Amino acid sequence: MDDCIFCKIIAGDIPSECVLSTEAAFAFMDIGPLAAGHCLLIPRSHYETVDQMPAEEAAAVLGELPALVKAVQTATGCKGVNVLQNNGRVANQLVPHVHFHIIPRNPNDAWSFNWPAGEYTGDHMAELGDAIRKALS
Ligand code: 5GP
Ligand code: ZN
Repeated sequence: MDDCIFCKIIAGDIPSECVLSTEAAFAFMDIGPLAAGHCLLIPRSHYETVDQMPAEEAAAVLGELPALVKAVQTATGCKGVNVLQNNGRVANQLVPHVHFHIIPRNPNDAWSFNWPAGEYTGDHMAELGDAIRKALS
């Protein structure tokens, strides 16, 4: 895709610090890291959001995830890792090419997660579970 910054990175038109390159996947250092060692794992093909990816391609890209997470842990010595993937502007996706953030974490680091957990009332959880199962079938 011509005007996609990550497609340009894959093509080599924009320089990046590449850490992994396979037939289906590409990974590179995030230019605005939430922590040193923050990497992005992306499909070589352009898909805006993860739901648009063929399952086989998603499997090929995510097949690289365990080794990449391990390598980031080894290289940075971090104590934990967040894997984060945003879909859509409302979910804070700024670059419209699927990407998985691999973010090193350490005790008392700068990044905190706001997770205002809600709760279901009545049969709402079961109803939504039913709707999701139907949508999957
Ligand atoms: P999003 O908010 O879309 O999930 O995250 C996009 C990420 O891409 C951000 O963390 C941002 O720092 C990173 N990013 C944006 N442009 C570039 C770039 O040109 N090079 C690299 N290496 N990372 C980028
Ligand atoms: Zn792209």
